[in-house]
Amino acid sequence: MAKRDYYEVLGVSRNATQEEIKKAYRRLARQYHPDANPDKKEEAAEKFREITEAYAVLSDPEKRAQYDRFGHAGPEGQGFGFDFRNFDFRDLGFDFGFGDLFEAFFGGGRRRHGPQRGADLETQLELSFREAVFGAEKEVRVPRTERCGTCGGSGAAPGTAPERCAACNGTGQVSFSRATPFGQFIQTRTCDRCGGSGQFIPQPCRDCNGSGYVQRVRKVKVKVPAGVDNGFRLRLRGEGEAGARGGPPGDLYVYIRVRPDPVFRREGDDLIYEAAISFPQAALGAEIEVPTLEGTTRLKVQEGTQSGTVVRLKGKGVPNPYGHGRGDLIVRLKVVTPTRLTERQKELLREFARLSGDEVAKGDKEKGFFEKVRDAFM
Ligand SMILES: [Zn+2]
Ligand SMILES: [Zn+2]
Repeated sequence: MAKRDYYEVLGVSRNATQEEIKKAYRRLARQYHPDANPDKKEEAAEKFREITEAYAVLSDPEKRAQYDRFGHAGPEGQGFGFDFRNFDFRDLGFDFGFGDLFEAFFGGGRRRHGPQRGADLETQLELSFREAVFGAEKEVRVPRTERCGTCGGSGAAPGTAPERCAACNGTGQVSFSRATPFGQFIQTRTCDRCGGSGQFIPQPCRDCNGSGYVQRVRKVKVKVPAGVDNGFRLRLRGEGEAGARGGPPGDLYVYIRVRPDPVFRREGDDLIYEAAISFPQAALGAEIEVPTLEGTTRLKVQEGTQSGTVVRLKGKGVPNPYGHGRGDLIVRLKVVTPTRLTERQKELLREFARLSGDEVAKGDKEKGFFEKVRDAFM
């Protein structure tokens, strides 16, 4: 439906003064106030909304100038963003707030009394590296609100039952008449005596003091799928806070933390393992033993392997938590320079260097004190 012109809505001319605009709005507000139209409440509420929006824009000189220039689209083409509930009626000289009044007409009040889903909860679960890789059955302790087991959530002591609230006759709402500038209106509000539940509990349950809810620290079983990693989130349906007034419970979110492993590092579904090999192994080739998740395996090192060479063992990594197969085990071969050599080893290495044409440090400089003493006596 196309929006009507704001001036037309208020029935004023385009060059009306602020005073005229205010007067027109007050007159129309009285006419269309939903309380003054009990037979056509919804229609009146819509009309009331329309005149209030028109008034909100035209009573603000800056917004009015923008409206005159750009129309309903507003300066940024986004409209004027009018929010009925935020509108400040105070400068109109009405002697009451509109907020609570409108909540009843525009639905805000009703929701409070219907079933409400419980809140979601969050917790953390720390796993060892292997638990994360292979999956595990764990338990988390969750402090939460639950329906009271003693009274089944009714709030009434066992053997008794809640009664209908006499103050509101079980509706949860009380009506009262109120004098306003628009005249005498019948209004409704939440019943004070029963807090809107419509019930009165003659003998409250001792375990929950009549609330129907108790605070518990509950142990919840968590089935962790194989392959989870840091930051993985598990959702346990219905393990959150209890719902209100027959609403379903919320969910529990479990955030996974994984302790690091001394042997393997993880990169997604792949495992990284650094294997140290000696210079002769790298130069001549060898078969070495490397650890895997399921024990050890033999790995062939090619003749002439450079430090940093990567060998991929297909399917020896981590299972994908969503069931997409398994990652790889990536072995990084690192050539380690020897530090403690015997004199004989050094001699052979010098020989090797000489054959390769490499210049190396003179042996004497590296001799320890005792060796020098021994040499001197021989
Ligand atoms: Zn109870
Ligand atoms: Zn009541």
